Amino acid sequence: MEVQQALQKLDQLQRKQQAYQHAMGLIDFDGATAAPSGAAANRGETLAILGEESYKLATGEETVALLDGLYANLNELDEVQRKIVRNLHEEIENMRRVPMDEYVAYQRLLNESQNVWHKAKETNDYALFMPVLEKMIAANKRLAGYMKPGLPTYDALLDRYEKGLTREKCDSFFHVIRRELVPLIHAVSNAAQVDDRILFGHFPLEQQKKLSDYLMEVMKLDRAHVGIAETEHPFTTSFTKYDVRISTHYHEENFSYSMFSVIHEGGHALYDAHPADNLAYTVLGGGVSMSIHESQSRFYENIIGRSRGYIRLIAPKLRELFPQLSGVDDEALYLAINKSTPSLIRTEADELTYCLHILIRYELEQQLFDGKLSVQDLPGAWNKLYKDCLGIEVPSDREGVLQDMHWSGGLFGYFPSYALGSAYGAQMLHVMKQTVDVEGALAKGDLAPINGWLEKNIWQYGGLYDPGELLAKALGAPFDPMYYVNYLKEKYSEIYHL
Ligand SMILES: [Zn+2]
Repeated sequence: MEVQQALQKLDQLQRKQQAYQHAMGLIDFDGATAAPSGAAANRGETLAILGEESYKLATGEETVALLDGLYANLNELDEVQRKIVRNLHEEIENMRRVPMDEYVAYQRLLNESQNVWHKAKETNDYALFMPVLEKMIAANKRLAGYMKPGLPTYDALLDRYEKGLTREKCDSFFHVIRRELVPLIHAVSNAAQVDDRILFGHFPLEQQKKLSDYLMEVMKLDRAHVGIAETEHPFTTSFTKYDVRISTHYHEENFSYSMFSVIHEGGHALYDAHPADNLAYTVLGGGVSMSIHESQSRFYENIIGRSRGYIRLIAPKLRELFPQLSGVDDEALYLAINKSTPSLIRTEADELTYCLHILIRYELEQQLFDGKLSVQDLPGAWNKLYKDCLGIEVPSDREGVLQDMHWSGGLFGYFPSYALGSAYGAQMLHVMKQTVDVEGALAKGDLAPINGWLEKNIWQYGGLYDPGELLAKALGAPFDPMYYVNYLKEKYSEIYHL
């Protein structure tokens, strides 16, 4: 087959895959937002059929031959085509190395593991989850060996979510985090506490929805292409750059929960909506990795959304929508939303303590995969780390080792990306400030210069560059976690008069 003809076929293949992703994604999104509760079984049936068709298309003989052919002619392709072929070819190679019976058995185990975890969490029964967790760890060790035979197991797991990420890089990052942030968190815990009672009360749903619209407008999310819905656990999904959906959860007793969900998910949506047009409908049309994605969402949520300048910008709107805030000044709002307290649940953690939750999971995962920690001893090790790093006692496994769905879903090696993303964002701010007047943009209420920098350096590239390459280009220097540490030290030392 001629290369040109093969490229046309590749384009058709990707559009067809995108159509499957679109359909499955929409069904998933509907399931998490609007679908009636009795629809799950029907949805599962439909998704299984579509998933099978999509899998056949991705791994069928015709696709394999097409990609092998193009892979042999990489030098005739342009940069975008080359990257697409490389990515798809690598995926197929990975799949080929996993024996079919092992793959099928793992899908079954995954389903069992998620069901058992749900029950175990509900009933606070770690012993129920223990045997299946043990099987999940063993299965993931084997899968890592098949997929990345040249890499040590935990490196292979990290590489799955963040191409090029290694244990060595993570170790040096988390070493700095632990050394620098644990003492800071202790100092904050011992300082005079911030009063955040103004965040609690009754904040009607209708008013909170108006706040969501306003926040999306401030972020310059194009509402013709970005929708919002309500869900239990907020998330973002994008079908293409032209159809991105965020979701939030309204708590009538505290408006800030949904407010920061909208800003966080809005950060993901900005990224998903802005890859260059020539990447749309290709496998490079979304964000490149989890940590780069989190660098965008957490940049908006924390570095922008919890900054003094941003709070000053939106405070008048908050007072207009919620009359009980009419006597509250900007500074009181800024302090309340930046209150830091060590807590049990990762997803509810504040900006300062969040990374320690990730560090704890990272350390435990390594010990589990190194065989240095047994699943029997996991809850004890979890509780000890919460005491050492955050100074708190864990009263139950439900609020401890059973809280996250990740391990039951086989997502070992995934957690570090949350913390790395936060740290990347802080260094991006430093670089951005060299050419963009961030404070000035917030004071004027026009965030275009901030978005402009992010689009130019991150968003437009979609999946064209590997995460490490993209970051190096954007930062113009090696990644250094001290930018993040210094940002947190400066911010919290001022708030808590340290
Ligand atoms: Zn996120």
